[in-house]
Amino acid sequence: MNFNKEELVQLFEKIKQMKKNSGFPVVNPTESLDEMQRHLRGEKEKFGCLGGHKYFYLDWNLDLFRCHAWHEPMCKVWDWDDSKLIRDGCTKCMIDCYRDPSVLQFVAISASDAFNNLKKGNVAAAAKNIFDSRNLTSIKAVWDDRKWIGGV
Ligand code: SF4
Repeated sequence: MNFNKEELVQLFEKIKQMKKNSGFPVVNPTESLDEMQRHLRGEKEKFGCLGGHKYFYLDWNLDLFRCHAWHEPMCKVWDWDDSKLIRDGCTKCMIDCYRDPSVLQFVAISASDAFNNLKKGNVAAAAKNIFDSRNLTSIKAVWDDRKWIGGV
């Protein structure tokens, strides 16, 4: 099936309504569905993808990719170290297995960033991490999906 962008925006809207009203088990967080609608509309997205930072794809040749949509590997898996991490806030695609957790884990990454900034004595940067309004959106997404997360 091929949908144009506006049809997809409407379908995401229907999925959000289904999640809210029908009890049908939609696991995608509503905030993530909002983000995909922003993606389709060409609007600025709020949550950079964690592919290459916290999520990876390993193929049969043991090449490690940031995700299975990426064109080139980061390295062979045995060559991996922290210097290979990619954290560029990519928003190129709509693969939900990377984009959904990027919303759900945002608050945890923020807490980790705040902790690391405090360790370096960078109080202003830590405060920015802590008071980032996206933390609340992320917490809401975790809370809404607690039933599914608890089952993992
Ligand atoms: S947004 Fe898509 S292409 Fe970019 S890192 Fe995430 S999964 Fe890969």
